[in-house]
Amino acid sequence: MKYEECLPHRLDKIIEECPFAIIPWGAHEWHGPHNALGLDTLKAYYMALDLCDEVGGVVLPPVYCGYQTMKPWRGFRLTLEFTRETVYSLLLQHLEQLYDEGFVLMLVLMGHYGNKHVETIQEATQRFNDCHNKARAVAWQDYLPAGWVNVRGGDHAGKNETSLLMHYRPDLVDLSQLPADGEIAPEIYGISGDDPREATAEHGKMLAELFVEQAAPKIREMLAEVMELRDNSQGQL
Ligand SMILES: [Zn+2]
Repeated sequence: MKYEECLPHRLDKIIEECPFAIIPWGAHEWHGPHNALGLDTLKAYYMALDLCDEVGGVVLPPVYCGYQTMKPWRGFRLTLEFTRETVYSLLLQHLEQLYDEGFVLMLVLMGHYGNKHVETIQEATQRFNDCHNKARAVAWQDYLPAGWVNVRGGDHAGKNETSLLMHYRPDLVDLSQLPADGEIAPEIYGISGDDPREATAEHGKMLAELFVEQAAPKIREMLAEVMELRDNSQGQL
């Protein structure tokens, strides 16, 4: 269920029965000549919608707000770089506002993996958790749950990310923009990880399904814990 498409009575029911919200968070960032600029955010968004179908709750509109992108790193074009302060504050306010509306478990699903960006998202999440004991926020890179069963994801415009976009939005990938053979120099193409020319929609589907398979039980478990806290505190005068 998409937050922005909910009527009030529908959202009230979700908050009562499954007060879980996912914030897909990414960037507008260069991802090689073969992928759409919104790759990070789009894949996290579609993965969030898949997870929401499985466990319930609601998905917020994806947030395109990346820190430590390819732009300051090596000057890659068509990339929008935001400050650490903006990312931190925008996330903390999202978490506080969702809590204020009755959500008790928030998942920030990160599609952009810059180390300092991830650190900032985790700091804001931790700050929220330090301030609230009847709600919880967690921040995961979208490849993290697959890693729990030793499936490696998390490249940059390589085989994994390209495959995920091919699975969800084949219209946004064009492998013919890459050289047909020979080496793909990372500093020229802005690609890291396994060769994106090996990307397939099938591989993307496998990663997407594994994400939901691994993430869903964890979310259900955390949600049961925080809902119990909420329900117990509601019973107190
Ligand atoms: Zn990426």
